[in-house]
Amino acid sequence: MTTETFEFQVEARQLLQLMIHSVYSNKDVFLRELVSNASDALDKLRLEKLRDDSLDADVSDLHIRIDVDKDARTLTVRDNGIGMSYDEVGQLIGTIANSGTATFLKELREAQEGGDAEGLIGQFGVGFYSGFMVADEMTLVTRRAGEGQGTRWTSRGESTYTLERVDDAPQGTSVTLHLKPADPENQLHDYTSPWKIREIVKRYSDFITWPIRTVPEPAGEGDATPEPETLNSMKALWARSRDEVSDDEYHELYKHISHDWREPLETIRLQAEGTFEYQALLFIPSHAPHDLFTRDFRRGVQLYVKRVFIMDDCEALLPPYLRFVKGVVDAQDLSLNVSREILQQDRHIQMMQRRLTKKVLSTIKEIRTKDADRYATFWREFGTALKEGLVTDSENRDAILAVSSFATTHADDEPTTLAQYVERMKDGQDDIYYLTGESRQSIENSPHMEAFRDKGIEVLLLTDPVDEVWVDAVGEYEGRKLRSVAKGEIDLDGEGDEKAGEEREKQAEEYAGLLGWMREQLDEDIKEVRLSARLTVSPACVVADAHDLTPALENMYRAMGQEVPRTKRILELNPDHLLVKGLNQAYKEREDRSGLVESAELLHTLAVLAEGGQPKDPARFVKLVADRLERTL
Ligand code: ADP
Repeated sequence: MTTETFEFQVEARQLLQLMIHSVYSNKDVFLRELVSNASDALDKLRLEKLRDDSLDADVSDLHIRIDVDKDARTLTVRDNGIGMSYDEVGQLIGTIANSGTATFLKELREAQEGGDAEGLIGQFGVGFYSGFMVADEMTLVTRRAGEGQGTRWTSRGESTYTLERVDDAPQGTSVTLHLKPADPENQLHDYTSPWKIREIVKRYSDFITWPIRTVPEPAGEGDATPEPETLNSMKALWARSRDEVSDDEYHELYKHISHDWREPLETIRLQAEGTFEYQALLFIPSHAPHDLFTRDFRRGVQLYVKRVFIMDDCEALLPPYLRFVKGVVDAQDLSLNVSREILQQDRHIQMMQRRLTKKVLSTIKEIRTKDADRYATFWREFGTALKEGLVTDSENRDAILAVSSFATTHADDEPTTLAQYVERMKDGQDDIYYLTGESRQSIENSPHMEAFRDKGIEVLLLTDPVDEVWVDAVGEYEGRKLRSVAKGEIDLDGEGDEKAGEEREKQAEEYAGLLGWMREQLDEDIKEVRLSARLTVSPACVVADAHDLTPALENMYRAMGQEVPRTKRILELNPDHLLVKGLNQAYKEREDRSGLVESAELLHTLAVLAEGGQPKDPARFVKLVADRLERTL
């Protein structure tokens, strides 16, 4: 048989480098990772056999076996599961198929420089490769169930690996680690010791539902080799009562199903009895994965039927806005052959989804009331995803609003709930004010905020794209309208000190001519020009009608390929600003107003720029400003 040598994909190579130089302090976890892969392989085989009885595979004694050879310093983890074909080995073991690979690489480089590579490995949970923390060479022999020929893969974790076809491979996969030389200083990490193996399996993999067997050390010199024994209890954690299971055990299950090496933020248990019985063990992670907002984000909740693994990422169990929740749902009364299509329509599954959703939301509420720090972590990591539910899940809208918080002008870094906002509202203030935009800074500097700042009226600062959508979908909170400070007429008179109505009328008269004339000049972009009650410092701003799309939303729809007519906006002028007064003066005095057209255009562009927008024709804008500057020199 010929041996072919291949190069690792660049990302994989960098990761291997990290592993070999073993920056991760808890090296024991390599065994958890290999056992986790083996367990998945057994799940997959059982399922495939269930679906296709003609599959030529032996499923009579599915198990994992760990063998050590002290003299050769090797450790082997073997399973008789699904195995991999020759091509699959190259694809699955030679590359890192993570949709966040680009981000990962970038962070990897930074982490190497900053010395925080350990945190990064934990975050990506690098599975199989973690073997190189303790081994200087790894060999994998595998045969895909149903296939005649097997494959041997070897690598020293450097830039290459080899692949070779083998004839006599047993069904499943064995991974052999050629352990690094023993460290006389550190006997604690002797992975050739059956005691050490037992301890690690107990600690990290006890809940694995397949037997994990090993041969114990002979009781004394010269005694016969004992029979293999099973190391794990194999009890599904979700089927055990709460007081039987430690938090650590739950956390290890979380790591097994999520491929995240860090502790979860919260464990949620639910046992439903009655006609449709199921158990759920769900986890809220402590960190959002990188690909949470990509289309191909996977790995949510796993579905089991009567302890048998049925599918990963079962989207029917939780709504998309809770896709960050990981865990297991084990249903008693489903067919083992159930498909995704059937699940989507099944009435019991729909009821289960409603119940699980409510349970997750009430848990988040509990976190919020009990532990401000943990809630802050939750919101920072998953708030953006959760807010999608304000748009898509009207049934739970109030529950989601109750646990949502938003940046506010009231405090620099502490977000506020709507309830807290309402408590702080000024006498005479009826509505809840917000402004959407790119960043806190651009919103705070926007001219729309001026009068609010002046009068000390609190404004929510919304910077996520989804904010543009939910504010419209929700509309109001406990009878208080949600109002954008950049939309509609704003009249803060009742909400601060009075501006004499008389003076207003006078100004309206004074400016009537200019306003009408400007509207004609700016007809392409502007549907109305009016005097503003929003501005105190800036000369002008652009606003929308209460039901118009915001420019950001317009762009979003276009990016999604939808046709949206361009919305004309409203230009508001500050009648107390010298520039505006001067323009009015000139308008009234001049017969020939052609020179003023450019001024009107500039004023409009300034207003667009001030809210963080782009001039329609940047080159023309630059030329107009340069001409003006030249004249003032
Ligand atoms: P992860 O488990 O996070 O996907 P790994 O690097 O540990 O990443 O494994 C990559 C892939 O290789 C797995 O998803 C699986 O498809 C395959 N694989 C690993 N170990 C085994 C095994 N023992 N049996 C069958 N397939 C395996």
